[in-house]
Amino acid sequence: MSAKKPQPATRIRTCRACGKQYEYPIKGSTATRHHCEECVCVPEHLRLVAERLFSRVHALELAVKRLEQRPGG
Ligand SMILES: [Zn+2]
Repeated sequence: MSAKKPQPATRIRTCRACGKQYEYPIKGSTATRHHCEECVCVPEHLRLVAERLFSRVHALELAVKRLEQRPGG
Protein backbone atom coordinates (compact mmCIF):
# COMPACT_ATOMS: atom_id res chain seq x y z
CA MET A 1 0.00 0.00 0.00
CA SER A 2 1.29 3.40 -0.87
CA ALA A 3 -0.25 5.47 1.87
CA LYS A 4 0.27 9.16 1.43
CA LYS A 5 2.65 10.27 4.11
CA PRO A 6 2.60 13.80 5.42
CA GLN A 7 5.46 15.89 4.13
CA PRO A 8 8.43 16.00 6.49
CA ALA A 9 7.59 19.51 7.57
CA THR A 10 3.92 18.83 8.32
CA ARG A 11 2.68 17.41 11.57
CA ILE A 12 -0.58 16.08 12.86
CA ARG A 13 -1.91 18.62 15.32
CA THR A 14 -4.96 18.63 17.53
CA CYS A 15 -7.20 21.68 17.38
CA ARG A 16 -7.46 23.34 20.77
CA ALA A 17 -11.03 24.39 20.25
CA CYS A 18 -12.71 21.29 18.76
CA GLY A 19 -10.19 18.50 19.18
CA LYS A 20 -10.02 17.75 15.48
CA GLN A 21 -6.77 16.34 14.19
CA TYR A 22 -5.29 18.08 11.19
CA GLU A 23 -2.05 18.37 9.33
CA TYR A 24 -0.10 21.56 9.73
CA PRO A 25 1.19 23.45 7.89
CA ILE A 26 -0.56 22.79 4.60
CA LYS A 27 -0.14 25.06 1.62
CA GLY A 28 -3.27 27.12 1.06
CA SER A 29 -4.80 26.12 4.39
CA THR A 30 -5.80 28.81 6.86
CA ALA A 31 -5.25 26.53 9.85
CA THR A 32 -2.87 27.81 12.51
CA ARG A 33 -0.59 26.00 14.91
CA HIS A 34 -3.37 25.66 17.47
CA HIS A 35 -6.59 25.80 15.50
CA CYS A 36 -8.02 23.91 12.54
CA GLU A 37 -9.36 25.65 9.45
CA GLU A 38 -12.92 25.71 10.80
CA CYS A 39 -12.08 27.16 14.20
CA VAL A 40 -9.84 29.83 12.72
CA CYS A 41 -13.04 31.44 11.37
CA VAL A 42 -14.66 31.50 14.81
CA PRO A 43 -14.45 34.86 16.64
CA GLU A 44 -11.82 34.79 19.35
CA HIS A 45 -14.16 35.16 22.32
CA LEU A 46 -16.20 32.17 21.14
CA ARG A 47 -13.09 30.18 20.40
CA LEU A 48 -11.93 30.71 23.97
CA VAL A 49 -15.23 29.33 25.23
CA ALA A 50 -14.86 26.36 22.89
CA GLU A 51 -11.33 25.78 24.15
CA ARG A 52 -12.50 25.79 27.73
CA LEU A 53 -15.32 23.36 26.99
CA PHE A 54 -13.05 21.12 24.97
CA SER A 55 -10.50 20.89 27.76
CA ARG A 56 -13.28 19.93 30.18
CA VAL A 57 -14.63 17.30 27.80
CA HIS A 58 -11.12 15.96 27.37
CA ALA A 59 -10.65 15.74 31.15
CA LEU A 60 -14.01 14.00 31.50
CA GLU A 61 -13.13 11.51 28.77
CA LEU A 62 -9.98 10.59 30.65
CA ALA A 63 -11.93 10.27 33.89
CA VAL A 64 -14.50 7.97 32.23
CA LYS A 65 -11.73 5.83 30.77
CA ARG A 66 -10.15 5.53 34.20
CA LEU A 67 -13.47 4.49 35.73
CA GLU A 68 -14.09 1.93 32.97
CA GLN A 69 -10.72 0.37 33.57
CA ARG A 70 -11.25 0.10 37.30
CA PRO A 71 -11.58 -3.62 38.10
CA GLY A 72 -14.72 -4.88 39.81
CA GLY A 73 -16.64 -1.68 39.16
ZN1 LIG B 1 -11.11 23.14 15.33
